Amino acid sequence: MLHGLMMDVPLLISSLIEHADRHHGDVEIVSRRVEGDIHRYTYRDMHRRARQMANALAALGVALSDRVATLAWNGYRHHELYFAVSGSGAVLHTINPRLHPEQIAWIVNHAEDRLLFFDLTFLRIVEAIAPHCRTVRHFVAMADRDRMPAQERVELLCYEDLVDRHSDRYAWPTFDERLASSLCYTSGTTGNPKGVLYSHRSTLLHAYAAVSPDALGMSATDTVLPVVPMFHVNAWGIPYAAPMAGAKIVFPGPNLDGKSLYELFEAEGVTCSAGVPTVWQGLLAHVEAHGLRFSTMKRTVIGGSACPPAMTRLFEDKYGVHVLHAWGMTEMSPLGTVCSYKPKHLAQGVEAQRAVQVKQGRAIFGVDMRVVGEDGGELPWDGKAFGSLLVRGPWVLREYYKGEGGNPLRADERGREWFPTGDVVTIDPDGYMHITDRTKDVIKSGGEWISSIELENIAVAHPAVAMAACIAAPHPKWDERPLLVVVKKPGATVTREELLAFYEGKVAKWQVPDDVVFVDSIPLGATGKMLKNKLREQFRNYRLPTA
Ligand code: ADP
Repeated sequence: MLHGLMMDVPLLISSLIEHADRHHGDVEIVSRRVEGDIHRYTYRDMHRRARQMANALAALGVALSDRVATLAWNGYRHHELYFAVSGSGAVLHTINPRLHPEQIAWIVNHAEDRLLFFDLTFLRIVEAIAPHCRTVRHFVAMADRDRMPAQERVELLCYEDLVDRHSDRYAWPTFDERLASSLCYTSGTTGNPKGVLYSHRSTLLHAYAAVSPDALGMSATDTVLPVVPMFHVNAWGIPYAAPMAGAKIVFPGPNLDGKSLYELFEAEGVTCSAGVPTVWQGLLAHVEAHGLRFSTMKRTVIGGSACPPAMTRLFEDKYGVHVLHAWGMTEMSPLGTVCSYKPKHLAQGVEAQRAVQVKQGRAIFGVDMRVVGEDGGELPWDGKAFGSLLVRGPWVLREYYKGEGGNPLRADERGREWFPTGDVVTIDPDGYMHITDRTKDVIKSGGEWISSIELENIAVAHPAVAMAACIAAPHPKWDERPLLVVVKKPGATVTREELLAFYEGKVAKWQVPDDVVFVDSIPLGATGKMLKNKLREQFRNYRLPTA
């Protein structure tokens, strides 16, 4: 046996900010604060304050592997905690503030968080949950001293006091790269949320993959604005990838409406961004309504749920913004696939490119995929056979925190373990994965499967449709048939018949929805995805005209 003779330097999160300070120290981090104003400083300033905060954490008794929670928007203080907490060996637990307070308290207790940092926006949540949080020793308001609430129903510490009181003399500790760095719970639409515990190693390897050219393609010449929240799978890794690349960061704070985002994009010269389709809908609606243009935006990552082709076309063909359709999940840190072209697509022209962009893309190096049928046997990569998607790789979950839910993995014939994603997909001969549905959203009509995503993509291409969800409605003969639930654009008119006619020639006749219902809004989950389980519940007793 001959071991390699290279240095065994552990992959640690603290090294990212040390690198950014040394090599990109004057690069800006710009934040729209909860207070409403714009804050700007540099990677060097950020590193200094992260070290001060690391000293503060030690003074508050935070020990190696202790969990430290945040309820916060995308902003510089949250980013400082990403490094102060993980860098010092504790575990950053980012909580989604859009969850129900009861669920938040449950998660805090499950994680046994020692401290809880929060933006003032979430003061009411903190007041509601504080009496139920059994392990939290201190609640820290991420605010200036003069913004601290006058009357405290919960005893609070002030973030800026903590920073001010502590020295910036701090040496980031060295430890095993496999130690836990951060914790993120799945949204728990079915059952209790489950904790996904990332390591320093998995986070760094994921960051290397994320910056690479066919993924986010991030470089020191970029200005990146993560719209995806830092409480949604670590903003898809951007808070780590940006300092690795030396890119300027723009944090949008709490205002994610089209107008606020557009103004920041333009004022700060943003070149790339990332977010879920519902956010881009708001931005595009604003830009369309006011006849605006993007002067610096080059590309954006769209994922979390399927990016409708109509959205891709608008971004690409009208606004010249390249769309990177991407797929991943909390359990995958989250990046799994990105839809980047191969040379032949460039040669084939725009239509072929738009056709490939409907797919979720090909695996980035580090993620291995396979599709299996109901019997567990592997299916061919022919772009037709669909089955359950399994993944494996160094940033894919092995086990949920505290062993919740038992062993999620499945072994293959060679004994290698795979994580079942719960997505139903095809993979084409070029390796492009295409999601038909989440297992629980697929519509089973007379033994055939109908893709709800495909039907939704068609609906939102209609000029009068703002949002559309397709769900299974009970049917006496076919078991289930597709029901289209539609939110119209403000002031737009369209009838049920017109929408159904819109499907003609676009899908097989038997896949056309049986009915359309118009609603004022579609319920969205904590990460901006349509809650189809809620809709199914709402339309449980719906009688289709065909039934
Ligand atoms: P949650 O499971 O809590 O909703 P995740 O962000 O982990 O949060 O969701 C992962 C799931 O989101 C994937 O398994 C997949 O079903 C869906 N998803 C993510 N990206 C896409 C995409 N580009 N197209 C379709 N579905 C997607």
